Amino acid sequence: MTSTPPLLAGIEAGGTKYVCSVAYDPREPLLESRFPTGSPAETLAQAIEFFRDAVATHGPIAAMGIATFGPAGLSPDTTDYGTILTTPKQGWTGYGVVAAIREGMGEDLPIAFETDVNAAVLSEAAYGAARGKRHVAYITIGTGIGGGFLTDGRLLHGRMHPEIGHLIVPDLDGTFGKAGSVCPFHESCLEGRASGPAIEARWGTPGHKLPDHHPAWELEAKYLAFGCVNLTAAWSPDLIILGGGVSQKPGLIERVRREFTILAGDYWSLPDPGDYLRLPELDQQAGIVGALLLAQQQITPAD
Ligand code: ZN
Repeated sequence: MTSTPPLLAGIEAGGTKYVCSVAYDPREPLLESRFPTGSPAETLAQAIEFFRDAVATHGPIAAMGIATFGPAGLSPDTTDYGTILTTPKQGWTGYGVVAAIREGMGEDLPIAFETDVNAAVLSEAAYGAARGKRHVAYITIGTGIGGGFLTDGRLLHGRMHPEIGHLIVPDLDGTFGKAGSVCPFHESCLEGRASGPAIEARWGTPGHKLPDHHPAWELEAKYLAFGCVNLTAAWSPDLIILGGGVSQKPGLIERVRREFTILAGDYWSLPDPGDYLRLPELDQQAGIVGALLLAQQQITPAD
């Protein structure tokens, strides 16, 4: 008699869409559902309905991984564990995502609750651009800037979780005669200067409409290079992956590599910039695959 492998459940809980999936192998979803992120109660009810249907078809779920937008309470020792922390997203501040899933799916279900960027770094390390690496930094540059880290094969948490979007960077806008910070908290942080909304605020046009040779990209590359040098100094990764919509701009990663090389000087003995600063390979799939990997780690812990 052959035994069925444990059924994994994953949620990529994004700020704009929820993706729910069940699978035996994280790369091969059996069922998947995508829907817009609405009010918390409505959204979680839709997710629970999907998983209950999946259980009816495929049998019990062995473990679940949730890869959520942040900020989120990740430490099981604190009272805010499993919740969304202060967010501008209407109705979500303080909402208990894990509690809602437990209420709907049973108290005994093993659940891993992580940030979406940490899930992305996990899947890139398992199947993508960072295969076989144990020290990986992942920066996502889109509506905001976030980061996930694998350090010696484990996801990095701090007192909360790293928020590299708020690394302080020099104000380079002056040389371009433009103002462009969109972070209400910091005069010049990476997210405030280099996120998608910062590009749009500075140039009056969304990034995807700016031509490849627009000066916007030279400035963007300089800001991102500051971020990458700081990550190198602080975490010493094997490589840095630049994900998110903004990174997909043709030619941008090459510019970042050039600026990085200038800024870093010869201080570190690093791999070739083409190997050190990489685009993701899984991209759209990274979040949900990472959520399923998190579920798998509940059953078989990482080394
Ligand atoms: Zn900031």
